[in-house]
Amino acid sequence: MAKTIIQVKDLHKSYGEFEAVKGITFDVYEGEIFGLLGPNGAGKSTTLEIIETLRKKTSGSIIVDGLNLDADPNEIKKIIGVQLQASGFYPGLNLVELINLFAGLYNEETDPMELLDKVNLRDKAKAKYKELSGGQKQRFSIATTLINKPKIIFLDEPTTGLDPQARRNLWDLILDIRKQGTTVIITTHYMDEAEVLCDRVAIIDNGKIIAIDSPAKLIDDLVDTGFERPVQVKKANLEDVFINLTGYSIRED
Ligand code: ADP
Repeated sequence: MAKTIIQVKDLHKSYGEFEAVKGITFDVYEGEIFGLLGPNGAGKSTTLEIIETLRKKTSGSIIVDGLNLDADPNEIKKIIGVQLQASGFYPGLNLVELINLFAGLYNEETDPMELLDKVNLRDKAKAKYKELSGGQKQRFSIATTLINKPKIIFLDEPTTGLDPQARRNLWDLILDIRKQGTTVIITTHYMDEAEVLCDRVAIIDNGKIIAIDSPAKLIDDLVDTGFERPVQVKKANLEDVFINLTGYSIRED
């Protein structure tokens, strides 16, 4: 049985009169990629940001790697990696300088080139953040989550707005990070992405978890109810055509 690394129990969050998160409970296991899925406004980011210690909860309990969020938020911060908002990337600094700046804030020894290698951005070491393509920006932002060698990283819609090649490239990167032993929590509303990446998903709607399991189990459960998808007439889709014509490799420059 996998070890539980995050335990969320009966989490509630209200913004004034409005209850955005209505009592959700879930566990994340060490070493898995756990997805929070749901439509816009479901409460995914709110939940993520509460676990990240960036937002206050209204009630409920959260334990991260044995640390209680109420008692030890600073200890939790040390073992998690959070994607920074683009606005945090000072426009005048290049990627190496930005990594050194963040490493200094975390009080961590980091080799910027080694980190850039991990996310395939060595060539861009001297480039400024604003000079990167969309996919490169996302890869850099994921690199920054790794600076403090976290046990868990949080990715909030990391592939939104990316082209198909850049998305696939980012999937490979996320799978690779997990292979190194890091637990990953990701939000997405791309179901194909969740199916490829996630060991388990929680589907959130209207502030409540309405299903939680592996993608394969959730699909099997639906099929067991007698559900059938309309038969696919074609053996490929337009994305297959696009990838076939333009290639799998990244061309962001
Ligand atoms: P998701 O990430 O699933 O799209 P959010 O967690 O961002 O959902 O938002 C959940 C609900 O809470 C939404 O209805 C949103 O408008 C509301 N909400 C989020 N942040 C705030 C805030 N700071 N003040 C008031 N309402 C908020």
